[in-house]
Amino acid sequence: MRTVTSHPISRRRNGWCWRAPSPPTAASCLPRCILEEARLQTDSANYHADAGTLPLLVSMPHVGTAIPGDIAAAMTPAALLKADTDWHLRELYGFARELGASTLAAHWSRYVIDLNRPADNANLYPGQDTTGLCPLDTFAREPLYQPGRAPDDAEVRRRLALYWQPYHEALQAELDRLLRLHGRVVLWEAHSIASVVPRFFEGKLPDLNFGSADGASCAPALMEAVTGAARADGRYTIAVNGRFKGGHITRIHGRPAAGIHALQLEMCQSTYMNETAPFAWRPDLAGQVQPLLRRMLGAAAVWAGEGSTA
Ligand SMILES: [Zn+2]
Repeated sequence: MRTVTSHPISRRRNGWCWRAPSPPTAASCLPRCILEEARLQTDSANYHADAGTLPLLVSMPHVGTAIPGDIAAAMTPAALLKADTDWHLRELYGFARELGASTLAAHWSRYVIDLNRPADNANLYPGQDTTGLCPLDTFAREPLYQPGRAPDDAEVRRRLALYWQPYHEALQAELDRLLRLHGRVVLWEAHSIASVVPRFFEGKLPDLNFGSADGASCAPALMEAVTGAARADGRYTIAVNGRFKGGHITRIHGRPAAGIHALQLEMCQSTYMNETAPFAWRPDLAGQVQPLLRRMLGAAAVWAGEGSTA
C-alpha cells in the first residue's frame, strides 16, 4: 500500500476539515486545523470527518442530533426527542479510526434534512411507506412541526444547500481521494433502527440487514466476505437485500465498475442499546457486537486491498 504523501488536511466548502491520519503527516498544519475546528464548532459544523489510510470509508448520515434554533422553534416536543436517530453509531464504530478507515458522520438531525434521501425526494421503496427528504413526522407518525409551520419548497431548497449538499460533497471528495490512492474503495453505510417499527415492517427486523441495491452497488465477493464473517459468528440473525436494500447514498455512490463498492448495514438497535428513551448505550451488548463489526470491516478492507492498484 502506498504511503499518503499528499497533504491530508484541507478546508471544504461549507464544512469541516478532514483530520489527518495518526500520526499526522504535516504536524505544522494542525494548529490551523484546530483553530478552524473551533471556529466551526461555534459556527455549527455540518459533519465530522476523519481521513484514514485504508480503502474504506464509513459514512454515518443519521447520527446527527443537532437542530438549528430557527428550525427547532417550529418543531413539536416529540421532534426534539429525536427518537429516530441512528443512536451511538460513532461510539459503536469507534474502532474504525484505529483500524485505519476514514469516517464521516452527520452533525445535523435527520429531522432537519435526511442525507440518505435523494434531493428530489423520490421514494426509495415505491409502494412502501417511508419518511421523506425533510420528514414531517416520526417513525411513530407523530408530527414533527407545529400546525402551519412545516417547511415549504423554498425552505427545503435552503436546507438542501446548507445541510445536505456539504455532506455529499465531503463524501464524494473522500471517495475520490481514496480511489486515487488505492484504485478500489469500499463505502460502508452505517445505520441502525429500532427492531420493531410497524410503519415500515412486520414483527421484528433481523439483527443485521445488509443492502447492496439488490447486488448493484458492490461486488458479490465483498458482500460474501462481510456476511461470511456474520454467519461465522452465528449469534445474530441476518438478511441480505431484505426490507432494507441500501438508501440513496448506497445507490448513488456504489459504482462497482468505477471501483467504488457501497454496502449498507442497517442494524437493530437492540444489539447495542435500549430502544426506548433515553436510548441508553448498553456496554454489555455493544461489547458483544463490536468485535463482529470489527471483523466485518476488516474483511471489507482486506477485500478492497486485494484489488488495490496501490
Ligand atoms: Zn439510518
